[in-house]
Parts: sequence; structure tokens; C-alpha cells
Amino acid sequence: MAQLKDDCFAFGDALVPFDDAMSDLATRLKTVVETEAVSLIEAGGRVLAEDLVSDRNVPPHDNSAVDGYAVFFSDLDPDHETRLPVSGRVAAGHPLGRDAQPGEAVQIFTGAPMPSGMDTVFMEEDVARDGDQIVLPKGLKQGSNRRFAGEDVKTGDVIVVDGTRLRPQEIGLAASIGRDRLTVYQPLRVAVFSTGDEVSDPTGDAPEGCIYDANRFSVMALLHRLGVAVTDLGILPDDEAAISAALGKAASDHHVLMTSGGVSAGEEDHIKAAVEKLGRIHFWRLAIKPGRPIALGQLGDASFIGLPGNPVAAMVTFLMIAQPILRRLAGETGYRAARVKVATDFAYKKKKGRREWVRVTLGSDGNGSPLLSKHHSSGAGILTSMSGADGLAEIGEDIERLEAGASVTYIPFSGLISG
Ligand code: AMP
Ligand code: MG
Repeated sequence: MAQLKDDCFAFGDALVPFDDAMSDLATRLKTVVETEAVSLIEAGGRVLAEDLVSDRNVPPHDNSAVDGYAVFFSDLDPDHETRLPVSGRVAAGHPLGRDAQPGEAVQIFTGAPMPSGMDTVFMEEDVARDGDQIVLPKGLKQGSNRRFAGEDVKTGDVIVVDGTRLRPQEIGLAASIGRDRLTVYQPLRVAVFSTGDEVSDPTGDAPEGCIYDANRFSVMALLHRLGVAVTDLGILPDDEAAISAALGKAASDHHVLMTSGGVSAGEEDHIKAAVEKLGRIHFWRLAIKPGRPIALGQLGDASFIGLPGNPVAAMVTFLMIAQPILRRLAGETGYRAARVKVATDFAYKKKKGRREWVRVTLGSDGNGSPLLSKHHSSGAGILTSMSGADGLAEIGEDIERLEAGASVTYIPFSGLISG
């Protein structure tokens, strides 16, 4: 297993602006997974581990964009209609098999190779057939309805680069150049724990004073969408020895250990001491809300990510901080969440110097333009507010007061993590 060389999660103690922390981190992380070859059918959603270079033109030959008649443009009378004998027929997959001659027209179908030398195609519906002859109207431009060899991909083009998460369009593109297997990164192996004596598994009873474990399930669902190989390691008690034993064991065969809860530096928060026994831990104090400190560290070869316990904070810090880290460790480069400016229907007051992510729904104003509304609850433990939201409105560090109608950056959940 490849190791992250330096202490890549080390940071000073000061409250760090989010963008600075994330761009700094991006320079320190590297891919920790191996590669494997998979069939195209298995490759969707995986991260490509090679540059895909085309050894051919796509399309391989000039071809017709329509059903109709192929001609030499030089045979056409610019001022009158032209009559030409129809002396051949080419359907898709069936080339003419001889050179075309000036003075003839060839019936052609969409996708059929252009007869050599012919450069222009009349659409079926624009011409009249008269026995063996075709009557062609004047005025068609040279090259009309002809598609060029290599107009999609040229020999030698790099069509998809190493580090790209493969969407259906990339899978189709790979097939179009004749590739049936691709080298991709093996899935990142992530072990997931919850922590807390009060946290109970939803398969059993929640004793007096206890709550059911929400985080492990939202986190595992997020990880599945990232194509991670997830190991569910259950709930850790608020006990340093038990936590360090479980983390130490999991560190040997996972790339990442992920916990939630136990990192808020209270008396019953034992993650820090447990991780410090086995490796290093840093509490990232980012200037963000929601997001109590998130803990990042290293236990041997495994990275450690400690999310906050409150279910909203756990999800939001996963989406905004853990997710880019995991993607990068898994070989993906160039990930960027979708962000667009959208007007709000709410006013908002906040502390200057801090970035806030507000749970919002996306609707529209009376004219059909997009409009963001704030979800009525904003507590870090109110998970229904995540369920009731479509995404996050990002209110920047400089803003202290936002007036209704002002535009903010909208980050849809679907653009943050779509699978
Ligand atoms: P902690 O960071 O451990 O102090 O937890 C902060 C809050 O989040 C407390 O109210 C916890 O009960 C709650 N919490 C911690 N872990 C979970 C979890 N897995 N599911 C739901 N709530 C949790
Ligand atoms: Mg706790």
C-alpha cells in the first residue's frame, strides 16, 4: 500500500480559511491505490488510471449526415437545377467499392462512407427522382451534409486523461476508439466507525438515554456513491483503549479510517488520545459553519478522518472536506463541485471571516428564474434539514449581512456527489 510520505495533514493552530486549507492540502495528497484492468461494462464510475490515446480517427471515414444523394460539387450548375444519373448506392457499413466518377450521383444513407472524391450531399427531401436521374436544386453549399473523418476524435488525440472519473459519455468514447478494457484505480478501502456510548445500532433497541446511529449510515451511503470499498466496523465506545485497539487493527488493511463523533475536545472525546498512541492527529480549525473541528491524521499507512458527531456537521464536513481528500487518494484529479450563482429569497446575518453553508431548497420566482429558500431549521443535529434541502448556499467569509434577492453560490447536493 502506498504511503503518504509527509505529515500531509499537519496544519498550524490558527483558524484557517477554507480555500487556503483545501488548496494547500491538494498539493500534499497523492494517489494511494493500485491499478487494475476492467472491462468497459465494469468501468462506469471508476477512476481512469491511464491517458486514453486514440489510435484511430472517429469517424474513420468521411460520411453522410443524412439520407440523400452524394455528388461532386463541381458538377452542379450554380444558376439552375442539375440533372445527374444515379449510378450507385451506399448504405451504412457498405462502401461503394470503387472510385466515384464526376458526372454521377450516388444514393447515400446516414453514416455511409462518402464515395471518394464526392464532397456534397443533397437531402432526400430536397430532390426529385426522375427515372434513373436525380434533379438537384441550385444553391446548396459545397460540403453540405458531409461529416469528416476524425471530426470527433483524431489519431493521437488524448480523449480522457488519467484521474478522470468515468461517466457514461467517457465509456462511450472509449468504445468508439475500439477499447474494450481500461486501466482504472482499485477502489479505496475505507473503514467506518461511529463513536459514543450513547450511540446504538438501529438493528437493536436504543437503551434509555441513547440514540440510534445515523452517521455511520449516511457516511457509508456517501462512500458507496464514491465507489469506495467500505468496511462497516460498527460503534466504538467512549473508551480510549477500545478505540485505539479497533483503529490499530483496521489500519493494517484500509487506506482510510473514518470516524464520527468524539473529536470535539470534551472530556468524553477520546479519539485524540487514541490516535496519538498509534500515529498523528491534527485538529483542523477551519473558519466554517457547520463544522466543528474535523480531525485528520495518519496511522501507519492509513489516513485518519475524524468527522464531527452532529449528523449535519458530519455530512457537511464529509461533503466539503473529506470527499475531496478521498477522491484524491483514490486517484481522481480535477474534481470540482458544481457551483452556480443563484438569488435568495432570504436575508442572512453572519460572522465576518467565516464561510457558512446554509441548507437551501431550489425553487423559482414568478418568472421561472431560480430562487433559493432557506430551510427552516439550521441546527447541526437536525438531519431532517439535510433531507429537506436540495443543496447548500455558500455565504463567503467577507459577507456579514446578505439582503434578500442577493445572489449567492449554490452548491447542489447532486453536483457535490452523484455517484
Ligand atoms: P460528539 O462529537 O461525540 O460530542 O457528538 C456530538 C453530538 O452528535 C452528540 O449529540 C452526539 O450524541 C451526536 N452523535 C454522535 N455520533 C452520532 C451518530 N453516529 N449518529 C447520530 N448522532 C451522533
Ligand atoms: Mg461522542
